[in-house]
Amino acid sequence: MNYNNKYFNPEEAFTRQEIESYQLDRLQKTVEHCMNSPFYRERFKKEGLKPSDIKTLDDLRKIPFTTKQDLRDTYPFGIASVPLDQCVRLHSSSGTTGNPTVILHTQKDLQEWANAVARCLWMVGCRPNDVFQNTSGYGMFTGGLGFQYGAELLGMLTVPAAAGNTLRQLKFFTDFGTTVVHAIPSYAARLYEVMQERGIDPRKDTKLRTLVIGAEPHSEDTRRRIEEMLGVKAYNSFGMSEMCGPGVAFECPEQNGMHIWEDYYIVEIVDPDTLEPVPDGEVGELVLTTLKREAMPLLRYRTRDLTRILPGDCPCGRQHKRLDRMKGRSDDMIILKGVNIFPIQIETILMQFKELASDYLITLETKENNDAMTVEVEVADNLSFDDFGKLQNLEREITRQLRDEILITPKVRLVPKGSLPKSEGKAVRVKDLRIKY
Ligand code: ADP
Ligand code: ZN
Repeated sequence: MNYNNKYFNPEEAFTRQEIESYQLDRLQKTVEHCMNSPFYRERFKKEGLKPSDIKTLDDLRKIPFTTKQDLRDTYPFGIASVPLDQCVRLHSSSGTTGNPTVILHTQKDLQEWANAVARCLWMVGCRPNDVFQNTSGYGMFTGGLGFQYGAELLGMLTVPAAAGNTLRQLKFFTDFGTTVVHAIPSYAARLYEVMQERGIDPRKDTKLRTLVIGAEPHSEDTRRRIEEMLGVKAYNSFGMSEMCGPGVAFECPEQNGMHIWEDYYIVEIVDPDTLEPVPDGEVGELVLTTLKREAMPLLRYRTRDLTRILPGDCPCGRQHKRLDRMKGRSDDMIILKGVNIFPIQIETILMQFKELASDYLITLETKENNDAMTVEVEVADNLSFDDFGKLQNLEREITRQLRDEILITPKVRLVPKGSLPKSEGKAVRVKDLRIKY
């Protein structure tokens, strides 16, 4: 492929009209194909719905939602729309929030998935002369093989370094001339910490240029910090096992919202209580319908992720809608003293303080019959624990800003860098030790 091509696929350049007519055609085919799935056949029968009832894109709303519970109830293969002998791989979610769910793939599903990932990477300037190092866990976790196949399809030299072993990761950076890295945000910060310990200057001693970060919610300030630390441009990447994995939505060079590939998915944002659609710009639950999947198409899948569609056109020219940063999952929400709080709200405040490092832990406890929140946060290297007055003032200022944001007064504790527990996969930000009555 010509390195100067702006688009990896012609579909990327679709106009709104082209997107919609493509979607209608694919939706009708997908619904038809879903009738091979015992689950969907039964569900359509119950609703008195036939595939021929889907005449316009608006008719999508006649179809009932599919939920994670449906995937669990039909575990492992009951939702599939092809016989098992046509499937070549399965993945399962990492089970952050309960039992795993299984997603099956045909050969063609894997090709389409790799294409979507390659398209994302091409969009942010990755080219076959890049060296791509993937620090994701491999195996069931889709960030491993998902990026591997996408990066290979694009033509990059791809290093399946997998998770952990940070010293080895750094050695690979320098030995192989890695230019693009995929890492979850908490691990990107960890890479920098270890570089500092080893006297490695990412700008001088490595060729790193691009970072793909995703898989967990993070704030704009966290992104800027990571970019500053590693001397890279960092692009937000969104995906989930149920939608293959990475490659669902990805930032373009504008770094302002993630384009969701509408030739792959129909996107809806609904009010999680009423399940009615909300207008563009308003936050709600992301609902996705797959348009290309063979083995396990999903209709109106409730992702439980909360986000919004960014209104307006992207200056990059792509018409595929943009998702805002994820606010979190509906099941990540902390309810403390009747107030709803998302961990990302706390992170957004913390990361505005230059005196703080990137790791924090929110603990919820019952003390003297009262539920309370403690926020422990690591301080930056250059902050000394000798100056009590300064630390106290800082704690006070953080507390004040958190209270303004979450309407509850947490106890803020500054702790030395490196003292909070680290996890190899997605960061654990909330520990709930409350007594449940
Ligand atoms: P699990 O559901 O067990 O964590 P997945 O790997 O399928 O396993 O995780 C998908 C979830 O990860 C998404 O539903 C979303 O909550 C979160 N996620 C993925 N990418 C991002 C991102 N860029 N920003 C915020 N959250 C993300
Ligand atoms: Zn764009």
